[in-house]
Amino acid sequence: QTVYLNGQFVPMTESQISTQDRGFLFGDGVYEVIPVYQKQLFEFDAHLERLKNSLQATSILNPLTDAEWKKLLDELIQRHPWEDQFIYLQVTRGIQMVRDHLPADCMTPTIYAYTNPLKPVSADIIENGIKIVTLEDIRWLRCDIKAITLLPNVMMKLAAKQQGADDAILIGRDGLVSEGSASNVFMVKDGTLITPPNSHKILPGITRLVIEKVAQNHQIPLLEADITLDELLQADEIWLTSSTKEALPITQLDGKPVGNGRPGQIWQLLRQHYQAYKADFLNA
Ligand code: PLP
Repeated sequence: QTVYLNGQFVPMTESQISTQDRGFLFGDGVYEVIPVYQKQLFEFDAHLERLKNSLQATSILNPLTDAEWKKLLDELIQRHPWEDQFIYLQVTRGIQMVRDHLPADCMTPTIYAYTNPLKPVSADIIENGIKIVTLEDIRWLRCDIKAITLLPNVMMKLAAKQQGADDAILIGRDGLVSEGSASNVFMVKDGTLITPPNSHKILPGITRLVIEKVAQNHQIPLLEADITLDELLQADEIWLTSSTKEALPITQLDGKPVGNGRPGQIWQLLRQHYQAYKADFLNA
């Protein structure tokens, strides 16, 4: 497996970065995860836009032009045999020899990217959905930045597992649903799809964006609105969405069935439309 590091493609087993990299020492960096279908980057412009927003918000220099980003990721894809992949790319602020929270001026960012095969979601999950617990959202107040600093997400994922669940839906200090530990949340109530509005409390998910587009194209009623824990508990359907999982149906929430305890009808419908959207993209 080959990875991209600072302008070069090298075997993964030989790629090395400095122990003085601020990504390692401070978690001072941002990242993206981009799905690839039939060797084509999916929704690349939206992912690049979000990367640029994360870099700008953290005052990390964007080291490459749009065309250079595209070229390097396309080359990374072509160097691997898998038709469907997901790319992880990370930009950290760079290397600093003397410890200081304040970054030096004009640092050279560290650019790293690698790819993995993208496996379809298992038949078991499609058939039966997944179990979720609600947990307090213990993260910071700039979750719109895709920061590499993921310790709270890791802790919440572990807590969910300890409770026998597959994942967690996070409830903010304001009592409102924010998102999943690595996904956005949708619920269905009386035929309307509802998702929390974009804000500093959630990541503006690209899959969320595609689902909104697909729902609008097919006249599925859609609302961006705050969701309380009570409303979530009364939902007919709940989904988690992300680039590597698309939309996952949640069939159990805090030990109780969601709706009739089976993946919902609107989810089935949206899944079909989503696959058609992907097929159109690949044929374009
Ligand atoms: N929210 C969080 C916290 C995430 O980590 C992710 C993706 O991993 C998402 C939402 C979903 O974003 P996307 O659909 O762009 O993958």
